[in-house]
Amino acid sequence: MDMQRQDDIVDLLVIGGGINGTGIARDAAGRGLSVVLVEKNDLASGTSSKSSKLIHGGLRYLEYAEFRLVREALIEREVLLRAAPHLVSPLRIVLPHHKGLRPKWMLRFGLFLYDHLGGRKLLPGTTVANLRTGDGKDVLKPEFKTGFVFSDCRVDDARLVVANALDAQERGAEILTRTKCTALKAQSDHWLVTLTNHPGRKTRTIKAKCVINASGIRVDEMVEIALGRQHEDHLRLIKGSHIVTKRLYEGRHLYMFQNPDGRIIFAIPYEQNYTLIGTTDAPYALSDGPIEISQAETDYLLSAASEYFQTPVRADDIVWSYAGVRPLYDNKKQSASAVTRDYVFDLMDTETPPILSIFGGKITTYRELSEHAMAKLRAHFPDMPKRWTAKATLPGGDIDNADFDGFVTQQAKTYPWLPAPTLLRLTRSYGTRLNLVIGDAKSLDDMGQQFGGGLSAREAHYLRTYEWAKSADDILWRRTKCGLHMSKDERATFTSWFKASA
Ligand SMILES: Cc1cc2nc3c(=O)[nH]c(=O)nc-3n(C[C@H](O)[C@H](O)[C@H](O)COP(=O)(O)OP(=O)(O)OC[C@H]3O[C@@H](n4cnc5c(N)ncnc54)[C@H](O)[C@@H]3O)c2cc1C
Repeated sequence: MDMQRQDDIVDLLVIGGGINGTGIARDAAGRGLSVVLVEKNDLASGTSSKSSKLIHGGLRYLEYAEFRLVREALIEREVLLRAAPHLVSPLRIVLPHHKGLRPKWMLRFGLFLYDHLGGRKLLPGTTVANLRTGDGKDVLKPEFKTGFVFSDCRVDDARLVVANALDAQERGAEILTRTKCTALKAQSDHWLVTLTNHPGRKTRTIKAKCVINASGIRVDEMVEIALGRQHEDHLRLIKGSHIVTKRLYEGRHLYMFQNPDGRIIFAIPYEQNYTLIGTTDAPYALSDGPIEISQAETDYLLSAASEYFQTPVRADDIVWSYAGVRPLYDNKKQSASAVTRDYVFDLMDTETPPILSIFGGKITTYRELSEHAMAKLRAHFPDMPKRWTAKATLPGGDIDNADFDGFVTQQAKTYPWLPAPTLLRLTRSYGTRLNLVIGDAKSLDDMGQQFGGGLSAREAHYLRTYEWAKSADDILWRRTKCGLHMSKDERATFTSWFKASA
């Protein structure tokens, strides 16, 4: 890539390679616009790999009367299930009734709305379960007798971002990672954009008719860079953290626990051997520095989960943790939990060429958000074709009838030499692109060096060649979660190998 070119002019410059930036780049490229997306670090290295990994309507948001957001999110569950059946899968959620917290009638009413607001076709509706019978009868404390069981979906958040970037690229977008937008200067009918490439620190200037500011927690800052002056802040930054423990219970269902403070937390089966517990709501300021879980958040999650699990969850059970910051639109609510999770656009196109800033949003609603973003820009691109993503599959998602189990069975016949856990992980991660990863390998030996956690040299090579992986961590923690399954020594060996084989 030539980082010195001066005269490029593109329709859209997208700042930010999270779910919103890649979703918009894909949508725009699919409508024939010329698009450059820049991500200063790795794809999904911001909030979009730090979520609870749910494609969900957000039952809790009904309490804040966010009906439009919940309805849109409920509909998106099935749209995304069809678009990427390898990355998105159905999930049953068990919500135990807690005496003294929300009464049963309220849970029933909320779930009735949840079942009916979003035109559910594929996902099963709500049932009521006796938690004192069956295989799970000893998982929760004896006082939890009744559970409401309803549907949502789980997602591999970081891979959903990559799938959108791949699709955007296949439709003509240029995706530049480790490339920061460092200056924006308004000209009469376009933006002059300076891009700085890391680690070489080479700069490139491009012209863009329109800028999409999807820079997550940096959105306000980018607006000020574009305007060249101070501007009212719109963001409310709220940190959310998760702990990953050894597996706490059998079964593939998620537990949703209500807390006396009105919040809820999730316990989610994760990566076969683990349980993911989250999340928290803690105020965050950019001056706070590294985004990490605090001791108070760890204690909160351990104590909230131990209120429900028969066997208390202890600090020794924790094997990993991560934290992210929600770039929410500040609707001036006191409580962090009450700040809207809905998205808000700010289009500036009078003083300057168009710049559309994105505030808030969820992984769940990124596709709709992208459509709405393009609708906002229609006046500037009047000939742009209509929306198209609702029925399109994402790369790897073109699985017959979205039948993921059937797909795995078929792949097991094609690659009988792959160990079952590796086959399952690879089919989940790459879907129908699995053949690109495996190439002409005919045996496990052909996959090259094995680094632990099922990660092979061949897969790493694929990720470097096709999925913008530029450091070992990109592979260990975002393109895959193999890092979680490897020892410290195995991760170090892989890191040295990755650097040496560059
Ligand atoms: C704890 C937690 C749990 C959540 N759980 C869920 C959930 O279960 N389901 C759900 O639907 N949503 C969930 N969300 C919300 C969801 O994760 C976010 O709304 C979403 O990831 C935001 O995506 P984004 O693209 O706007 O931001 P980001 O993913 O942060 O992307 C912004 C990108 O911009 C880049 N950038 C910034 N400045 C520049 C620059 N100058 N040049 C180039 N690049 C730049 C950053 O490096 C970053 O990668 C959760 C959020 C949190 C924090």
